[in-house]
Amino acid sequence: MSLPPCPKCSSEYTYEDGAQLVCPECAHEWSADGAADAGDDVKVIKDAVGNTLQDGDTVTVIKDLKVKGSSLVVKVGTKVKNIRLVDGDHDIDCKIDGIGAMKLKSEFVKKG
Ligand SMILES: [Zn+2]
Repeated sequence: MSLPPCPKCSSEYTYEDGAQLVCPECAHEWSADGAADAGDDVKVIKDAVGNTLQDGDTVTVIKDLKVKGSSLVVKVGTKVKNIRLVDGDHDIDCKIDGIGAMKLKSEFVKKG
């Protein structure tokens, strides 16, 4: 196995110290998985069974959901096309036939 060279001085004598990598030559310390999360802070939103959801996906509602402020209910099994992922407690923005624009929680849908 080979450890990456020190990003500071390019020394090849880096060693692992727990989750950190350490350079013995310049004493620089950095995270071993730093390369994986560099500039990659995209929030991953998953459905009820752990599939990663993306904008434009079609999902199926897995439980009856009351629509806030109305007597409407989104029935279990309702297909929702062309979802849009958003930030927040309700992380799916969508439009449902017969109901209109609303927001859903990803934990109550299944991809496909
Ligand atoms: Zn170094």
